[in-house]
Amino acid sequence: MPTFHTPLLHHHSRLQQAFPTLIRLRFESRFTESAGRGVFATRKIGAGDLIHTAKPILAHPSLSTINTVCYFCLKKLTSTEFHGKGVAFCSQECKENAKVFYEVETKADWLAFDDYCRNKGLKYPLLVKRLACMVISGAASAESLDILQPSNLSHEMVLEMEEGYGLLKRGFAMANISDEQMAFLTKKWYNSVLARIRINAFRIELAVGSYEDLLSSASACVEAEAAVGNAVYMLPSLYNHDCDPNAHIVWIDSADAQLKALCDVEEDEELRICYIDVSMDRDARQSFLLQGFGFKCNCLRCSSGD
Ligand SMILES: [Zn+2]
Ligand SMILES: [Zn+2]
Repeated sequence: MPTFHTPLLHHHSRLQQAFPTLIRLRFESRFTESAGRGVFATRKIGAGDLIHTAKPILAHPSLSTINTVCYFCLKKLTSTEFHGKGVAFCSQECKENAKVFYEVETKADWLAFDDYCRNKGLKYPLLVKRLACMVISGAASAESLDILQPSNLSHEMVLEMEEGYGLLKRGFAMANISDEQMAFLTKKWYNSVLARIRINAFRIELAVGSYEDLLSSASACVEAEAAVGNAVYMLPSLYNHDCDPNAHIVWIDSADAQLKALCDVEEDEELRICYIDVSMDRDARQSFLLQGFGFKCNCLRCSSGD
């Protein structure tokens, strides 16, 4: 059974059921200004505590790391798994789990699509392609990401997306995927998925690359390496932002995420993560959040001018 979560969660109650016991979700806009929903602690959580783990709905390596990390979980490949050419998996399990997209994907030639992403420095169309493969294989619903907030797309962005959409569609058509199987793949679908991925994808930086690195690094300060890829999650995307967050997301050795408390959190307190680099000054944070995420940050830190 694939461990990929492909939720068809259209009702809050179903989402709530899927929640770990330490948190609950509120959809009341009274509590959260930016998104109209938020994640709250159901009981006291101590600094450093693991709040919950999260498996990605979608994950994809960066094009620069595609030959050195697992094509499914983004774990660093060891030399024995590393084929030197093409993609590889870290384990039999990942190879099995990847079938949900890989069998469809390998039917087509993605050279033009990948070149388009590489030349324009785009990473999110790769996630759209992966989701499209999963929808075609029947492993995911075309509406999988609908619950996530979309970003606003400017006219220029929509025009920019046309090329990627065309290349994606052409790739599947050349692989003899039938029109019926591709019925979901409209320009509207492509833009809507990309709009959601744009503000909900996490850039994954692994704390450690391998077991050896883990042994050699001081446990108190693990150096973050450069991004190995990008991933979209369900629960972590429902956390609101704060420039002085009480929770953060960490990746140890793969795209499986851990949500941890940064300080003591009281029962009923909202859990918030920082969407951007916390070390930026107030003006930089404000413009980054407005342009990238579409909201004006009114957190305590911003209000106090810090
Ligand atoms: Zn793997
Ligand atoms: Zn702020």
